[in-house]
Amino acid sequence: MIEKTELFTRSIGTETDVVSKEMYTFVDKGEDSVTLRPEGTAGVVRAFVEHGVAQTDPKTRWWYLGPMFRRERPQKGRYRQFWQLGAEAFGQGSARVDAEMLAMLRDLFEACALPGVAFHVASIGDAKCRPAYKAKLQEFLRGRADRLCEDCARRIETNPLRVLDCKKEGCRAATQDAPRLMAHLCDECRAHFEELRRSLDLLKVAYEVDDRIVRGLDYYVRTTFELLHTGEGLGSQNAVGGGGRYDGLVQDLGGPPVPGVGFALGMERLVLALEARGAAVKAGPDAFLAPMGAAAVERAMVLARELRTAGLRVDMDYDGKKLGKTLERADKAGARAAVILGEDELARGEAKVKTLATGEETFVPLADLATALQR
Ligand code: AMP
Repeated sequence: MIEKTELFTRSIGTETDVVSKEMYTFVDKGEDSVTLRPEGTAGVVRAFVEHGVAQTDPKTRWWYLGPMFRRERPQKGRYRQFWQLGAEAFGQGSARVDAEMLAMLRDLFEACALPGVAFHVASIGDAKCRPAYKAKLQEFLRGRADRLCEDCARRIETNPLRVLDCKKEGCRAATQDAPRLMAHLCDECRAHFEELRRSLDLLKVAYEVDDRIVRGLDYYVRTTFELLHTGEGLGSQNAVGGGGRYDGLVQDLGGPPVPGVGFALGMERLVLALEARGAAVKAGPDAFLAPMGAAAVERAMVLARELRTAGLRVDMDYDGKKLGKTLERADKAGARAAVILGEDELARGEAKVKTLATGEETFVPLADLATALQR
């Protein structure tokens, strides 16, 4: 979760928003400058190089799930600590691998029953074709500097590609007819992009070519993509994920020339999107034990442990007094069933199981409870 600051300045780039404004950086006991990781790829590549994986396993796939940190203005869908799920594939430069990754993402959204995610793809060229394009874009932007917002006017010299990504109305209008990188790709990058398109068609992944995509991190080359949620629930923070190719990064960080491609999904945004379409993303307990009286409370304590050992999620009430209140709590906790243990039931070695969604009640022998409560 913490890396040396240098890792991010060298990989993401000092002129990006992430590095120049958003990192939590501090000096560790007067020694190194360290940073809470703002994203996952740099650390994965650091580990790949540090452990010499290229020698033992030249073609490997990695994944991660964990918190990332960025000092941004918090709002719905944008937090200072957020979780990313990401994957990386090292050692293969072919656009077919990029397509495989996008197909996997499409399958993931399908499995989550989240259909409204648009796949925007582009190529942002490489070290061969991007510099000439950048100069051309700068020339264009200098002529329109007075129409750009303050940040973009500064970016003309520091990070001109980023100007195309500005969401402000004025900047979008001023750059409407700006030269586009997709029209200035070198032959190799163009062929790579054509291969990506063919492979996406082959795997039946629907996508749009979006020549405004500018990823906010410097290490990307060729394939880049953004996954935009088109349904309700996310407001302006509608990017659920993004990624692309970073073929020079392993070498930049001290390793051999190994290509790589990866993506990261924002978990909170995924959850917001799921909630917006009514999915129950917070699962309550399987059972809420409602004992009545001191003896029943003791019996319930033992029972709770048995049910948890059987793999069920169980909560219980320790007061053993007001059934109505306990049932209200069970309902609020989103429990599937309330297990009522009164004196009569206990005397018969039974519990009354109430399915909270329907109100349906059945008597179940205590020995059969775990089975009865399994989904
Ligand atoms: P990025 O590498 O910036 O494109 O981030 C990849 C994904 O992480 C985005 O598409 C978002 O879903 C998510 N993400 C990025 N920044 C934040 C943030 N501050 N809060 C929540 N999610 C974020």
